[in-house]
Amino acid sequence: MKFKRLEISGFKSFSERSVLDFRDGITAIVGPNGCGKSNISDAIRWVMGEQRAKDLRGASMADVIFAGTQRRSPAQMAEVKLKLESDSFPYPYSEFHEVEVIRRLTMNGVSEYRINGAASRLKDVRGLFMDSGVGTRAMSIIEQGKIHQIVTSRPEDRRGVIEEAAGINKFKESKKEALAKLEDVNNNLLRVQDVTQEVE
Ligand code: ATP
Repeated sequence: MKFKRLEISGFKSFSERSVLDFRDGITAIVGPNGCGKSNISDAIRWVMGEQRAKDLRGASMADVIFAGTQRRSPAQMAEVKLKLESDSFPYPYSEFHEVEVIRRLTMNGVSEYRINGAASRLKDVRGLFMDSGVGTRAMSIIEQGKIHQIVTSRPEDRRGVIEEAAGINKFKESKKEALAKLEDVNNNLLRVQDVTQEVE
């Protein structure tokens, strides 16, 4: 999966619509301290469905909306669009060669995701990236301090990092869903047994 284009508006320091086209090869973003380089990787992580404000260096999710400056008024909405290219998008996007994901958050807390223009759920966005190697928790985005954090983390946390890199999270999610269903079925079975015993 390749990133083709990123459009950011009203997100963190990007008050105006800014567009980054990613060409083949390596893209480097350079600039003075505080100019917004990390905000670009935050925007990428956000559009991929990041839910933890702390991991986006904010106290609450509303902190991603451009807060205004002396000259510019605050934005009413943060919007990030990410265009992706792949020959093997997962179902139900497998027929596409390009997919565009949009995430929006308004000042009054309305949040939405769109995939190829259609209103989508966070689950759909996560499904699109799962096991592609570029999910929010994948090791394709290494923030400042991350290496130190991994090296000094508890063994069970480090195991999580290795599991993510090995691409087994999809199966762990499916297992969790299957176990939850199994528990529902067991509960229903118990109820049926109770009713049968009463009838007998
Ligand atoms: P460094 O090289 O020091 O790591 P950087 O280029 O990565 O810096 P960022 O951390 O991406 O810079 O950007 C920091 C800037 O973004 C700060 O000036 C901060 O005020 C601004 N910023 C962050 N959130 C918002 C927001 N919601 N509204 C307006 N500006 C914001």
